[in-house]
Amino acid sequence: MSATIVVGSGPNGLAAAIELARSGHAVRVIEAEDSLGGGLRSEALTLPGFVHDVCASVHPLALASPFFRSLPLAMEWVHGIPLAHPLDDGRAALLERTVRGTARHLGHDGPAYWRLFEPLVRDAGALLPLLLAPVRPTRHALLLAGFALYALRSAQSLIDAKFKHERARALLAGIAAHSLLPVAQAPSAGFMLTLAILAHSVGWPIPRGGSQRLADALVEHARELGVGFSTGERIVSLAQLHEASAAVLSLTPRQLLAIEDGRLRPGYRRALDRFRYGPGVFKVDYALDSVVPWRARECWLAATVHVGGTFEDIAASEAAVSRGETAERPFVIAAQPTLFDRSRAPAGKHVLWAYCHVPNGSEVDMTSRIEAQIERFAPGFRDRIVARHTMNARQMEAHDASFVGGDINGGLANVRQFLARPILSLDPYRVPGTKLLLCSASTPPGGGVHGMCGYFAARSALRRLSAP
Ligand SMILES: Cc1cc2nc3c(=O)[nH]c(=O)nc-3n(C[C@H](O)[C@H](O)[C@H](O)COP(=O)(O)OP(=O)(O)OC[C@H]3O[C@@H](n4cnc5c(N)ncnc54)[C@H](O)[C@@H]3O)c2cc1C
Repeated sequence: MSATIVVGSGPNGLAAAIELARSGHAVRVIEAEDSLGGGLRSEALTLPGFVHDVCASVHPLALASPFFRSLPLAMEWVHGIPLAHPLDDGRAALLERTVRGTARHLGHDGPAYWRLFEPLVRDAGALLPLLLAPVRPTRHALLLAGFALYALRSAQSLIDAKFKHERARALLAGIAAHSLLPVAQAPSAGFMLTLAILAHSVGWPIPRGGSQRLADALVEHARELGVGFSTGERIVSLAQLHEASAAVLSLTPRQLLAIEDGRLRPGYRRALDRFRYGPGVFKVDYALDSVVPWRARECWLAATVHVGGTFEDIAASEAAVSRGETAERPFVIAAQPTLFDRSRAPAGKHVLWAYCHVPNGSEVDMTSRIEAQIERFAPGFRDRIVARHTMNARQMEAHDASFVGGDINGGLANVRQFLARPILSLDPYRVPGTKLLLCSASTPPGGGVHGMCGYFAARSALRRLSAP
C-alpha cells in the first residue's frame, strides 16, 4: 500500500497525520524546515536558557479542540488569569476565568457583560465544537443561529450597543483585534465572543516548557502510531507527491498555486487566485532581568496582556493596518509565560513575547513603537531588557512559509472567506479532480492552534481512500 503524505508539520499537519494513522493508514509527514512543529516551535531566540515561542504561545483553542482532547498528549497546561488590559489611569481590566468575576470588575457595564456572556458560556459545551468545525447541519442549529446573530457583526456595533464605559469597551476591542480585522468590520464580533467564551470555559493556557512541548507531544503520539517524518524537504512541485495514495497539504492557496504545475482545474485555480491574505505581524521576543514593571499590579496575574489603551486607540491602530498603513501607536499582544512557568528562563529572569499587526509583507521595524507602548503602561520597561530578537512580517514567512506575508491566520477572516475558505463547497478540504486535500488554516475553521483543519481534511481523505 502506498503511503499517504502530509505536507507540513504544524498543528494541522500533525492532526491530519494522527487521524489518518489511527484509521490504519501508512503516513509520512514531509516538513520543509529542519525542525518539526510549524507555528508551535520554541527556540532560544535571545540567549541560552531563555525559551521563546517563535509563533503561537497562548492556547485556548488547543485546549478546547475536540480532536486534541481525544489524544493522550504527554504535556502540561499552565494557567494564569486569561488576560489583563492596562489603561492610562494605572488600573487594568481583567478577563477572568469566570463571567461573574469579569463582570464584577467592569463597574456599570458588569450587568451587560453578564447578560451577554452568561448564556453563551452556559452553552459552551455544545457551541465550541460547532465553532471549531466547518459549517454543516447540526442538531444545535438554533444555538448556532443565535450565536451567529451576534458573531457575524462587527465588534464595534456589538460593543456600542451594549457597553458604555472605557474598561469594558477597551477590554473587548482588544480581544476583537485578534481577528486581524478592523473592529468596525464583520465578523470581528465572532472572534471577540469566541475568545471570551474560551477564557470562561477552558482558560487561555500556556504549555509548560513552551509551545514546542505541544508539538513534541503530537509528534510523539504520531510516531507511536507509526507515522514517519522527513525534515528539511520542501515540496516545490506536486510531481514530488505522485506516488502517494493521497496527499494532505498544510499549504495556503498561494503556496499551492506556486507548485501546482498545471494540475489544478482552471475554475479552482481562479478561485484560489481570488483568495485574500490579511495583515502580517511584527514580533519582538525579550529576555528580561526581572518582571515587566506594569503600573497596574493586576497585570502580574495574567499570562496575556493587551497593550493598546482605549477602544478608540485600538480601533485606530487596526484600521490603519487594514488601510495598508503602519500604526504609530500599535495595539500590542504580549504574553509573559515565565510568571507561571519558571522553566523557561534562568532563575530570576523572564521572557516576554510581543507582537503587533502590520500590513502584509511589511519590513518596517516596529521595535521602538512596541516598546513605547509597553513603557506607556510599564515605565522603566526598557531598563529591564537584557536582549531582544525581532522578526518582521517577511522574516515570519521565512521562518514558516505558510505565514504568507506574515499573515498568521492563513488568509483574511472576513465574512466572504469565513464562508468560502478557500472555496465555497460542502467539502472545502478537497482539491477537485485530484487526490489532494488542503488542511492549512486557509480551510475551516481557520487560524489558530486547534488541529481541526487537519482533522477534517483527514476525514475527507479517509472518505476518498475508502471509496470503491
Ligand atoms: C507571531 C504569531 C503568534 C501566534 N499566536 C498564536 C497563539 O497564541 N495562539 C494560537 O492559537 N495561534 C497563534 N498563532 C497562529 C498559529 O501559529 C497558526 O494559526 C497555526 O500554526 C496554523 O497551523 P498549521 O498547521 O495550519 O500551519 P503551520 O503551523 O504554519 O505549519 C505549516 C508547516 O508547513 C511547512 N511547510 C510550508 N510549506 C511547505 C512546503 N512547500 N513543503 C514542506 N513543508 C512546508 C512549514 O514549514 C510549517 O512547518 C500565531 C502565529 C504567529 C506567527
